[in-house]
Amino acid sequence: MTLICSDYNLFDRRRDRSARPNGSPVSLPMLKPFAIHLLSHLSRIRSNMTDSCVFCSIVSNEIKANVVYRDEQVTAFRDIHPVAPTHILLVPNRHIESVGTLEVEDEQLMGHLFTVARKLAEEEGIAKGGYRLVTNTGANGGQTVFHLHVHLIGGQRMRYPMG
Ligand code: AMP
Ligand code: ZN
Repeated sequence: MTLICSDYNLFDRRRDRSARPNGSPVSLPMLKPFAIHLLSHLSRIRSNMTDSCVFCSIVSNEIKANVVYRDEQVTAFRDIHPVAPTHILLVPNRHIESVGTLEVEDEQLMGHLFTVARKLAEEEGIAKGGYRLVTNTGANGGQTVFHLHVHLIGGQRMRYPMG
């Protein structure tokens, strides 16, 4: 994170002193742009959103996807490289990196996500025959997109072994 804002450089002490003869290093008005900059970073960290998350971009409609379900908590869209006749990804709208970063307060959200998965399986006509739900977690788990997602895969007999 840079501390240099458009009009002020907090480390430019020569400029600070010439502007204020008493030699005080930083004035309150000078801190305003830095504070705004810092707050925007903090809100990003709090929501855990990243600048380059493909699934965040799908949730916010910045990237197109074949969205099959959306509500205030969860978005579901078809996987771009399906491995079975039905292959849907369910993601929390809020950026959560993986199961490895889930918090206790996410329990309702995750329960809701699985209920949506069950409904989508019924809508896809794969509920009766059975289906697979997969959540790869971390590099060794095979996770390639680091926004928590559950694969809903079905429409054919699933094969083993996995891993
Ligand atoms: P994982 O390997 O468990 O992290 O799964 C990531 C999945 O995201 C893969 O099955 C990819 O095919 C899928 N994927 C990546 N980018 C997109 C995208 N833009 N739209 C739909 N699915 C995607
Ligand atoms: Zn994300």
